[in-house]
Amino acid sequence: MYAEKFLPQVISWRRDIHAHPELSQHEERTAALVVNVLEGLGLDVRRSVGGFGVVGLLRGNEPGKTVALRADMDALPLNEETGVAFASENPGVMHACGHDTHTAMLLGAASALSEMRGKIHGSVKFIFQPAEELNPTGGAPGMIRDGVLDSPNVDALFALHVWPLYETGKIAIRSGSCMAASDRVYMTVHGKTAHGSRPDQGNDAIVAAANVITGLQAIISRSVSPLDSAVLTIGTIHGGYRYNVIPDTVKLEGTVRTLNPAVQDRMPGLISRTAKGIAEALGCSCDVEYVKGYPPLVNDAGLSALAAESVRKACGDDAAILADEPDLAAEDFAFFARERPALMAWLGCTPEGVSVMDAPKLHNTKFCPDEGCFVYGIDYLVQSAIDFLNAE
Ligand SMILES: [Zn+2]
Ligand SMILES: [Zn+2]
Repeated sequence: MYAEKFLPQVISWRRDIHAHPELSQHEERTAALVVNVLEGLGLDVRRSVGGFGVVGLLRGNEPGKTVALRADMDALPLNEETGVAFASENPGVMHACGHDTHTAMLLGAASALSEMRGKIHGSVKFIFQPAEELNPTGGAPGMIRDGVLDSPNVDALFALHVWPLYETGKIAIRSGSCMAASDRVYMTVHGKTAHGSRPDQGNDAIVAAANVITGLQAIISRSVSPLDSAVLTIGTIHGGYRYNVIPDTVKLEGTVRTLNPAVQDRMPGLISRTAKGIAEALGCSCDVEYVKGYPPLVNDAGLSALAAESVRKACGDDAAILADEPDLAAEDFAFFARERPALMAWLGCTPEGVSVMDAPKLHNTKFCPDEGCFVYGIDYLVQSAIDFLNAE
């Protein structure tokens, strides 16, 4: 509807960005490309907002509210294995989360909306943020501190994320809890070393760590309400010197995901109590460091209803899906959603003929979203912005 005319250009921007991925806080080239396009459209452009962030402002000819559309620009430290012709030219860096497509689609939406300037009531702010993958810091807080939501004051934000669990042509919207808080926990179990043949002369940090890991799982099953969701995954264990030496130190790292802010607040205390208590019971001690990351992402109910209608209008009745489950991945768009009403939609990107179960997922070295989804993504962004500005 709005996108068609700009699609070849959007695909070429996307492939250019995909071939030149940049890690969080290094998005210099990508930001320069964005600035170039936005200035070409005649928008007011602010650069270096919270790092390499870029903001374009489109002032419509009629007065009204301000709506913001947001994309992220950073890539991941992975070696691409998609085999596409426009694969990464930076070894060890890859757009494996689709932020190349988000940036290109938002440039497409900016192009389409710029042509409609005469009919727009209010303003549209295009936010290109850095460092989405930089948990726990993220890129959104820096942009917020640098005033991205002010002058003019942003009344609402829309964003999308390519989502391989849905087919191309579908856009999923979930009202309320949408994505999880993502926290980290670092633990060090201290014991006393001894010869492997004389455990009685030491305090085995490996046995204590094994019991800590097993015991922590009971937090989810016994201390969190079965009606709330939470995940506690220990991702690394490091300890030991030699097969016949009882070690004095074991280090553990894990991630904690929660949807309910009240559950998130209880997790540091529960983990600390469990880990320290179990270690102590086995003659060891345990240091626990809990680092809070991105908050839970909660989609605004009013915007969810508005956007679902916008999707039907712009992409057809079959396109809109009301997602019945949240996802326990995290998104730093949640920082914006804490400040203003906001909505993150999931854009289906698995092409016809490929099963959504088999399609490589986000952060996979083979992840390659279908470019056929761009038309839906751009139309959703444009229509939601217009509908929000025109709503009473
Ligand atoms: Zn990601
Ligand atoms: Zn992402």
